[in-house]
Amino acid sequence: MSWCIEVAVQAPAHSALGDVLSYTCPVSVAPGALVRVPLGRREVLGVVWAAHAPDAWTPPAMALKPVAGVLDALPPLGDAWRDLVAFAARYYQRSLGEIALAALPPQLRDLSAAQLARRLKRQGPATRAPGTDAATPAVAPTAEQTAALARIEAEAGPFLLFGSTGSGKTEVYLRSVAALLEREPAAQALVMVPEINLTPQLEARFKARFGADAVVSLHSGMTNPRRLASWLAAHGGAARIVLGTRMAVFASMPSLRLIVVDEEHDPSYKQQEGARYSARDLAVWRGRREGAKVILGSATPSLESWHRSRPAEDGDAGGSYLRLAMPSRVGAGALPAVRLVDMNLQPPKTVLSGALLDAIGQRIARGEQSMVFLNRRGYAPVLACGDCGWKSECPHCSAYRVFHKIDRTLRCHHCGFTERVPRACPTCGNPDIAPVGRGTERLEEHLGELFAAVRRPDGSAVRIARIDADSTRKQGALETQLAAVHAGEVDVLVGTQMIAKGHDFRRITLVAAVNPDGALFSSDFRAPERLFGLLMQSAGRAGRDAAYLAAQESTAEMWIQTFHPQHPLFAALRRHDYAVFAEGELKERVPAGMPPFAFQALLRADARTQEAAQAFLNAASSAADGLPGAERVTRYPAVPLTIQRVANVERAQMLIESGSRAALQRLLAQWQPLLHELRRQPEGKGVIRWLVDVDPQSI
Ligand code: ADP
Ligand code: ZN
Ligand code: ZN
Repeated sequence: MSWCIEVAVQAPAHSALGDVLSYTCPVSVAPGALVRVPLGRREVLGVVWAAHAPDAWTPPAMALKPVAGVLDALPPLGDAWRDLVAFAARYYQRSLGEIALAALPPQLRDLSAAQLARRLKRQGPATRAPGTDAATPAVAPTAEQTAALARIEAEAGPFLLFGSTGSGKTEVYLRSVAALLEREPAAQALVMVPEINLTPQLEARFKARFGADAVVSLHSGMTNPRRLASWLAAHGGAARIVLGTRMAVFASMPSLRLIVVDEEHDPSYKQQEGARYSARDLAVWRGRREGAKVILGSATPSLESWHRSRPAEDGDAGGSYLRLAMPSRVGAGALPAVRLVDMNLQPPKTVLSGALLDAIGQRIARGEQSMVFLNRRGYAPVLACGDCGWKSECPHCSAYRVFHKIDRTLRCHHCGFTERVPRACPTCGNPDIAPVGRGTERLEEHLGELFAAVRRPDGSAVRIARIDADSTRKQGALETQLAAVHAGEVDVLVGTQMIAKGHDFRRITLVAAVNPDGALFSSDFRAPERLFGLLMQSAGRAGRDAAYLAAQESTAEMWIQTFHPQHPLFAALRRHDYAVFAEGELKERVPAGMPPFAFQALLRADARTQEAAQAFLNAASSAADGLPGAERVTRYPAVPLTIQRVANVERAQMLIESGSRAALQRLLAQWQPLLHELRRQPEGKGVIRWLVDVDPQSI
């Protein structure tokens, strides 16, 4: 007689296969064990979800297949890990197997039991306790850091560490981890950052403090063998500290006691394809489940976290998070003065105002660095013919193709469709087709022309550099370019949001945002929140080193060129007053019934025609009518997405919303089987794919 095991496997999305499949197994295995099982004609990796002893199950009519192998060299994944996966699957409306398998390193899928046992032997036993070879002595904490650390030590959290840029949040994370490991040497901590390009910097700081052996990274930019090695070190407990991007929230860490989510407001914590989970929200759930303290850090928290950390007031018990404020910059450094340039008063077609150019020129003369920020890559967003009105539309998308001068191409940033720039207008033959608008490539060129005749203090030419997704495509390019900035080999740095976040630049004393207005009047209600965050972050790159500023007799400045200088967002920004901005936004969201005062989900459908996509959504809405509790959930009409067509696929969505998270979740759970069914009905015929996005970040 054999055991019966239920195994989560990665079934194709929305397949008819249930969440788990049953197999027989000759030996006893614990839930959480990894097995290889036959599935169709393939053999795949699976996670044992439940196991029944030989006398505790009755064989079904159709004989079960036996497992192909048990990866018994690996300790089983823990209960807490499986609970996290099960919760994420339920909450984000996906299958157990999809989440479970996506959470494991890809290379595990291809290893046989024997190969894995090899590999584990090479990995070696757990390393010695960390901290013994700490190279950098810790600095003395500031008063604000001390106060925050004391609260973190004394209370359960979750904490919202609301600290200005340069207030030393990272130092608080480092000390929280140190305190934990001192108390509990075998404990583990997870530290998440929003972007891969911020992990090397953080890794260096953690390794310097805790020793190289104690720290591993987990992100999608790693090679598969390295990712597997990191994962095994976390799962086996050898790694005390795991640093990673959103995917790291699923790392198996049996002794997890502390989770840090740095820049918790960052949209990259929300996965935008497949299972659309929020790593920040899962971190909070996981922390509660596993008794691990959670620290969410930001200078510009998400309005959700801000609201959840509101202090108690008359008639309001307050939020469930604890807000810890660190308003001051380390070393008595001041936040940069914000200067608004009213572009209505500039000569027409001005790109960079005279005053801003003067200010950058003064920095160059003193040997300081400036950063000019424009959130749009490429040379120009559109190429156009002045004679007939032709524009560089993408034939496959409802969007323009971007002109990239460097290789003279028109590239669609949505579907990737790329062509050489035509010699003349494809419609009327006019040879004078011209770029309209400006991206980072053109801005870099423009700055080069403007400062061509200017000399640095030593008589050499001004050095202008650009960092964006185009300039950093090659492996290692970003590190090289950042190193050049840190080494002082760049005078003016041009870039997208890539340079605005997180980096601890020491010699930048001026930051300029040259065209931020687009987000002020966007249809996305979160656009102002994002813009404010991004501008505060950018400002945070200027004047981070108070001693350097003093030695230079310089001041830190943030310049903003805008056609709407009266906008309240800029007034709050001028005072670096996130709280005022947040309260203003929240006041608007209460009567509008928007998050955090309501909970949302999107049902999206992609089809060959817009009619087919909307027909599916409307049928889905009708199908929900009869569901119990449906009256507590508002369903809005189906609408096309802002960029309606991408790669010849028409896209539509339907917003659903409720004041009760539980009511929304109940409806979604009951709806799911109806949606699968609908797909097979005439209304679903033209649909290429559909998905549910719970707590969507942009609508
Ligand atoms: P944040 O993450 O809040 O933007 P960081 O943690 O990067 O700020 O700190 C900003 C700078 O101040 C870093 O260079 C850091 O090494 C330094 N720093 C942080 N805390 C202290 C301290 N207590 N004493 C001296 N320098 C500190
Ligand atoms: Zn033309
Ligand atoms: Zn396209």
